[in-house]
Amino acid sequence: MRKTIIAGNWKMNKTNADAVAMLTELKAAVAGVENVGIVIGAPFTALSDAVKAVEGSNIKIAAQNMYPKASGAYTGEVSPEMLKAIGVEYVILGHSERREYFHETDAFINEKVKCALSYGLTPILCVGEKLEDREAGRTDLVNETQVKGGLAGLTKEEAVKVVVAYEPVWAIGTGKTATPEIAEETHKAIRKVLAEMFGAEAAEEITIQYGGSVKADNAKDLLAQADIDGGLVGGASLEAESFAKIVKAGM
Ligand code: PEP
Repeated sequence: MRKTIIAGNWKMNKTNADAVAMLTELKAAVAGVENVGIVIGAPFTALSDAVKAVEGSNIKIAAQNMYPKASGAYTGEVSPEMLKAIGVEYVILGHSERREYFHETDAFINEKVKCALSYGLTPILCVGEKLEDREAGRTDLVNETQVKGGLAGLTKEEAVKVVVAYEPVWAIGTGKTATPEIAEETHKAIRKVLAEMFGAEAAEEITIQYGGSVKADNAKDLLAQADIDGGLVGGASLEAESFAKIVKAGM
């Protein structure tokens, strides 16, 4: 049975003090929630304090990126070994903002996914089409290419440890959410690709989150869909109250 996971992506927001204050409030708001995985993607600078702030709670901490090497001459980068050493458990990889602004390719994202897994970090692999792709009827093709590229070479055992986040680029930060029906259709198509790659049984085990303007008032309808197993939440994850409502919509 796959797990519902609600993950927040703070992006380039929050000082350490802001992060600790939000997490302290969130901890109280989601105490006792057991059947939903709760993850917060904090900026690198706040990760260590964020891990300490959620100690002993049901909240896990994610990085928003990593470099796929243990260490070395990669100025400005952060390795999976460093993330593991401070207690980070998840890492968001291939977010559309990294694909767009930092020119990340499927092959590079695939290196990161494999490297994260080898360090025991859970990758949240983001995929999703742009508006022009959807309008040109290329939605499924784009997602298939990104899923196949991002998960290339994984074994079935590795694949079931990955979380996939379907995030239509046109819905991120725009206030335009895919309707539950449109999102479900695409999630189904993604699960079919996962089944082709890793078999039907493994595909059924993989959590596929929806991301793109998820808010407290639309989360329940999205999460009620059979193939939507959670959410990756940007804007609405910045405040404890709104994020806790989304978490509770997944219960
Ligand atoms: C995101 O950045 O992953 C995201 C889904 O953002 P928002 O919820 O703000 O659309």
